[in-house]
Amino acid sequence: MLKKLLFPTAKQHNTKPYLCRMKILDGKKASQAIKDELKIDVAQLSAEGKKIPHLAAILVGANGASETYIAAKVKACEEVGFISTLIRFEETISEAKLLAKIKELNNDPDVDGILVQLPLPKHISDEEVINSIDPDKDVDGFHPVNIGRLMQGLPTYIPATPYGIMLLLEHFKIETSGKHAVVIGRSNIVGRPMSVLLSSNTYPGNCTVTICHSKTKNLNDYCLQADIIIAALGKPEFVTADMVKEGAVVVDVGITRVEDSTRKSGFKLKGDVAFDEVAPKCSWITPVPGGVGPMTIAALMKNTYHSCITKN
Ligand code: NAP
Repeated sequence: MLKKLLFPTAKQHNTKPYLCRMKILDGKKASQAIKDELKIDVAQLSAEGKKIPHLAAILVGANGASETYIAAKVKACEEVGFISTLIRFEETISEAKLLAKIKELNNDPDVDGILVQLPLPKHISDEEVINSIDPDKDVDGFHPVNIGRLMQGLPTYIPATPYGIMLLLEHFKIETSGKHAVVIGRSNIVGRPMSVLLSSNTYPGNCTVTICHSKTKNLNDYCLQADIIIAALGKPEFVTADMVKEGAVVVDVGITRVEDSTRKSGFKLKGDVAFDEVAPKCSWITPVPGGVGPMTIAALMKNTYHSCITKN
């Protein structure tokens, strides 16, 4: 049975009655639970005199969004008791120098996980950089070796965002077996691995998956058949109420900064789902922010912990 309402009743809060059927897939809450568990596990490692997980993060340039994401990752390391090293490079760093640093980290036995914050400047190849990371330290799960293992259902580092979504579905005990999942977006870091995970013979999984992209015809028709929609296309409020069937589970991966002069930062974050109109039709839905974002970080922490304990 799915969990009961997280929302107050209409009577208590004078909300429209239909809102009471919808429940929030609260990524902040679920990620906190994961981090709390990890904190205990790390304390245990420390008490036993074992090695503490160490994440090395590389940031190239000063992209505002990347700064925010990397700061959140470093903060999460502190919260769970990992060691973290943030390595910053100027936007102008050469690809060769960046690759040399990654090689150094690959050879450093103290480093368990390496992540390079994407996107990289245009003169640096994402592919070259990802491929240069030791697959055993690839806690973002982007290396072709790890993607290949994922395809074969072997133990691997699962890319952090799809892994975070799986952990979120698991945390809230969402039924997935036999459901029709529609994934919008086929990127290597989100949509494609998400489709593999949801179709795998595990829980969460065992879905029948349709993967949609920019050339999909009649996208609305596929979405309307979906029990679960994973929106990962990066187009603010793309998924509207007329695309969602009653009772669907909707996971919004999108994060786009849109201008908002009323805010100090000058922007606000928008998801790929028009939350206000879609939410009343859903059984469960993620908010943006506070849904998939924190789960991505929790998944990264889990991958880093796993890397440490398997190597030491
Ligand atoms: P991406 O590499 O740009 O891929 C977008 C995908 O969406 C592509 O496969 C594209 O199709 C498809 N698409 C674009 N327009 C479409 C349309 N009109 N109809 C159907 N499909 C369409 O993006 P990404 O890296 O996967 O990220 C997607 C979103 O998730 C972004 O907003 C990103 O910021 C966010 N994100 C969030 C997290 C998090 O932690 N919450 C993590 C990663 C990414 P084609 O392949 O045909 O071009």
